[in-house]
Amino acid sequence: MAGVDRRGVFWLVTSIFLLGVILVPGSLALPAQARWEAKVYGAVRYVETELPLVALTFDDGPDPHATEAVLAVLRNHHVPATFFLIGEQVEMYPDLVRSIQANGHEIGNHSYSHRLLTNLNGNKAVIIDEVQKGAAAIARVTGRVPVLFRPPRRYDENMVAVVRAQGSEVILWSLDTSDWRSCTPAIRDAIRKNVSPGDIILMHDRCWGSPAMQQVLGGIIDDLRSRNFQLVTVSTLLSAGGK
Ligand SMILES: [Zn+2]
Repeated sequence: MAGVDRRGVFWLVTSIFLLGVILVPGSLALPAQARWEAKVYGAVRYVETELPLVALTFDDGPDPHATEAVLAVLRNHHVPATFFLIGEQVEMYPDLVRSIQANGHEIGNHSYSHRLLTNLNGNKAVIIDEVQKGAAAIARVTGRVPVLFRPPRRYDENMVAVVRAQGSEVILWSLDTSDWRSCTPAIRDAIRKNVSPGDIILMHDRCWGSPAMQQVLGGIIDDLRSRNFQLVTVSTLLSAGGK
């Protein structure tokens, strides 16, 4: 009988404990999710800061079908962003570049032709050419040589070293919306669940041109604001590093 009682007590205690774990969220707190290093080969994935700052970044523009729509949402929400432009697109749509600049956004270089700059077996010339021609195309329209460079599609150690030796800061990302693969309203949820201070959020102009996706973009900004995040340009985020 005594054995049965002890088993009974054991199960009672265990049940109460398990109930407590289920009913009190965080009572068995997991360690904070491990995050990647803030930099890789000297390129910036995110900025280490306690401040609630994040940067929205838009790649591959200017896009004749989408950039003005993105600018309209950002303007309505009084939010600055960073646009990484492709030199060839800049030459085709200089008015859109002026529009980005006139709206107070930051402009970065996303290469001249968007060709892949990895696995070049140490060939620096192609990388330097893409960086310089891209920067020159932007500077001809804006009057300013961009400091930030985002590599097209992929990066490796050689590419980052060559670009940095040109005096550019290589900017990657820490929160990839994958909007180039799947442009859907679900991106809003993914950002809300995964965003952290100092994040650089990767997006592409072309996903956000439709009225429906403009709404989603506005919702993303509202979500971030409701959690007290402030949206800033990449350069502003960089200057908050360590704060
Ligand atoms: Zn790109």
